[in-house]
This record gives sequence, C-alpha cells and structure tokens, in this order.
Amino acid sequence: MEPEDFLCDFCGRSWNVAQPFVEGHQGSCLCGQCLTTALHAFESNNVEPTCSDLCTMCLEARKEPAWCLPAPAQSPADRTTARVCRPCSTQAKRTLERDPESGWKRPVPKT
Ligand SMILES: [Zn+2]
Ligand SMILES: [Zn+2]
Repeated sequence: MEPEDFLCDFCGRSWNVAQPFVEGHQGSCLCGQCLTTALHAFESNNVEPTCSDLCTMCLEARKEPAWCLPAPAQSPADRTTARVCRPCSTQAKRTLERDPESGWKRPVPKT
C-alpha cells in the first residue's frame, strides 16, 4: 500500500506528505484538514445533530452529535456519510500533537 492509496473518508483526499492522516478502525482515515474543521465545529458547537449515527473512526454510536461534511461535499453517492465523534477528534488531535513530524498544528480558537 502506498500513502496515496489511503483516502480521507471525509473529503476523499489522498494521503500526501503535506497532509497528516489519522487512522481509525477498519482502515478509516481522517486527514488533518478535516480534523481541523471538525475541531472548530466541536468548539463552536456547530455539529450536525443528523450526524449522530455510527462514528466512522471508532464505530461506536454516540448519543451526542458527531461531525461530518455537509452532504453536497460528500462523494460519490454510494459512500456512506463519514462522521467523527468528539472523543475521536480529541484523540486524533492528541495523536498528531505527539508526532512532531506530522506538521499539524492545533487550530487556533476563534476569538
Ligand atoms: Zn479529509
Ligand atoms: Zn468516534
């Protein structure tokens, strides 16, 4: 498997060196850019209640809302909508912060 074979389950981007990825269960992947967007959404409580089904990363059903891309950004139609729960986004953030080579920066909270 080449890095390019890994696709972000959320935006469909392929893995490249400029973009850190976090792996979830069953080969699910979340790219740093989607993680940043997700963290912003959780911090501002701007998460979709409709995305509260199974989390793509941990495969657990959470009671609280999870983050997913707005429907039009999802592609193609036969993919189930990927979503990430708050604990998974926090976990992913910690993973990238511990990895100095990830080049990933914690999003700066909006003031
Ligand atoms: Zn992504
Ligand atoms: Zn999760």
